[in-house]
Amino acid sequence: MTFHIITLFEDAFSSYLGESIIKRAIEDKKIRIKFYNPRDFSDDKWRRVDQKPYGGGPGMVIQALPVVKAIAKATSKISARDKKFTKIIFLSPSGKQFTNEYAKISAKKYKNIIIISGRYEGIDARIKKIFKMEDVSVGPFVLTGGELPAMILIDCIARQVKGVLGSAQSLEESRIASPDVYTRPEVFTFKNKKYCVPKILLSGNHAKIDEWRKGRKK
Ligand code: SAM
Repeated sequence: MTFHIITLFEDAFSSYLGESIIKRAIEDKKIRIKFYNPRDFSDDKWRRVDQKPYGGGPGMVIQALPVVKAIAKATSKISARDKKFTKIIFLSPSGKQFTNEYAKISAKKYKNIIIISGRYEGIDARIKKIFKMEDVSVGPFVLTGGELPAMILIDCIARQVKGVLGSAQSLEESRIASPDVYTRPEVFTFKNKKYCVPKILLSGNHAKIDEWRKGRKK
């Protein structure tokens, strides 16, 4: 699975993608992440890519052409055969809600996912006339940019890619998992009060433990 990220702010990704499971997935070549900066495709001598919005209003809009060229660069690296297994996602607060199911299907269906991260007031909508893409939102709130949403998609889709997690069992949605989890020691003390692990988890009765875990889900 290769993620192609169109962003003005590649550096925003390094700390998150450089840690833990995603870092290992990249090192083990289970996933690849490539970046394309629209500024590299700008004709402006200052590499400027934003302009005032038509119709008025505050903020700036990212121009279509540098983004179109960045997407074209990403797709040019994908073989004709793999183009069928390529998805382009346009991050937008008013897009289709991203879910675990969406991640699961994406990991199964696609070899390349191109994710377009907007900034400011967004990106000139004409890019959608040139490439077929789907508007996707990570939730009913507005962030300052698409970099966090892109990392959410990468993380959530990557964990569905075979071999990224330790075993298929690690996928919480494939077993009964609980939001409340416990580990050693069995009892600890804080400010003279003892905190114990629920007895059921020490019982060895897995049917009862599953029942208890189900009950913890909201
Ligand atoms: N004016 C745009 C609108 O009303 O849809 C919002 C622009 S927002 C400030 C800047 C960028 O952040 C968006 O282009 C999008 O890429 C990203 N973004 C913000 N919130 C998002 C969310 N909830 N889901 C996905 N992307 C989001």
